[in-house]
Amino acid sequence: MRLSEYVEGIGTGKKLRIRCRSCRKFLSDSRRHWKEKVPHKEYPLKRAGSLMSASTKYVLREFYCPSCRILLDSEVVEPGEPFLLDELKS
Ligand SMILES: [Zn+2]
Repeated sequence: MRLSEYVEGIGTGKKLRIRCRSCRKFLSDSRRHWKEKVPHKEYPLKRAGSLMSASTKYVLREFYCPSCRILLDSEVVEPGEPFLLDELKS
């Protein structure tokens, strides 16, 4: 099950495991969301493009594969806001 360009789920329900589509490293299982298990960084929003540079209220948060370092996902949030966790229903 493809979750995004570089994230996919293998299995279903309690046997669901999430892995990187680039290097095939497993990132998490059904007990923890994969975003809570991988490295992440926050940047000023202008990193997303010059049109975004005016806003200082939000930051760009990027999540990386711990193995191949590819950018897995990003989100625009207020600083300190909890991760935006997509819920999987199978
Ligand atoms: Zn990877």
